[in-house]
Amino acid sequence: MRITEDYWGTLLDGKEVMIIRLENDKGTVVRVLNFGGIIQSIITPDRFGNPADIVLGYDALAEYESDDCYFGATIGRVANRIAGASFELNGQLYELTANEGIHINHGGGGFHKKLWEYEVLDDALVLKYTSPDGEDGFPGALQVEQRITLSDDNALRLEYHAVSDQTTLCSLTGHSYFNLAGVGGRGLSAEKTMVPSVSGHQLQIGAYEFTPVDETQIPTGEIKSVEGTIYNFLNARNLGTEALDGNLILSHANSKWDARVFEPISGRFLSVRTSLPGMQIYNGTFITKRNGKEGAVYGPQCGFALEPQFFPDAVHHPEFPQPILKAGEEYCEFIEYRFGVV
Ligand code: BGC
Repeated sequence: MRITEDYWGTLLDGKEVMIIRLENDKGTVVRVLNFGGIIQSIITPDRFGNPADIVLGYDALAEYESDDCYFGATIGRVANRIAGASFELNGQLYELTANEGIHINHGGGGFHKKLWEYEVLDDALVLKYTSPDGEDGFPGALQVEQRITLSDDNALRLEYHAVSDQTTLCSLTGHSYFNLAGVGGRGLSAEKTMVPSVSGHQLQIGAYEFTPVDETQIPTGEIKSVEGTIYNFLNARNLGTEALDGNLILSHANSKWDARVFEPISGRFLSVRTSLPGMQIYNGTFITKRNGKEGAVYGPQCGFALEPQFFPDAVHHPEFPQPILKAGEEYCEFIEYRFGVV
């Protein structure tokens, strides 16, 4: 793997943002911003060897500063919703930054809009962010390190480590939206054209159950079989056009993948493996029309996100795995994407 870094832009507050480029022997190129820990592009070849970018994003920093879709971003301190933007921990009530009605989604102000420090090692990019005690209402100063590697067998691995000086909540994830048909890249396509829908992508997820939600996306507490529901991806099937936005409970039954996706025209596939207990599938139904990278135009369902994480609103559901990080203990989780063609 080769890693290089370049200046990418300047934030409204005058701080400089860098873009770090990771490249492997298979011709896969991943670009990461130290703003928001954002994966700005992933370029991989299709089955004929033609490279294209397979993630949604923007060309300019200002667009990421005002983005409301979390394109490619690192999400924290807690991914997904916490009902009523408050929770109790050890008898203490914590009030958080509500940003979705009365609820908080994806950490409130969130790690996705922060400038991270970083270190380039021989074999990894390490992004670092310290979230101060009380940021967005969460207790404890949380030191986060995200180690990013791209192997020569095409695995892009995100490894999250975090330590807090007080017991807190922590559930970090990556929010890349994929479109394996390619959304431009190296100027090869997408001149002012609408990016095609991902409805024809074939998805399989190793999950027998999911966590149903109410109309504000808060889990009811029920754990339901996927059988007969839109969340049944036990056998590979097209994503289709129905709105998908739900948390599936991963069985981790397969040691090679928790979810995998195939796009028949390009021949590209993506598999996702994680240590985390749940996976939010979101097929981008609420992406409003906007300009994306290299003149491409984005709209509803032009990308899908597979977000490994603790279950939404877990802190209010003691029966769910708890995203509680005790003072001084280490949070250590990973997400691994593997790319290829058939
Ligand atoms: C959520 C969606 C939300 C999207 C963008 C996803 O992780 O599940 O409900 O619309 O992020 O905020």
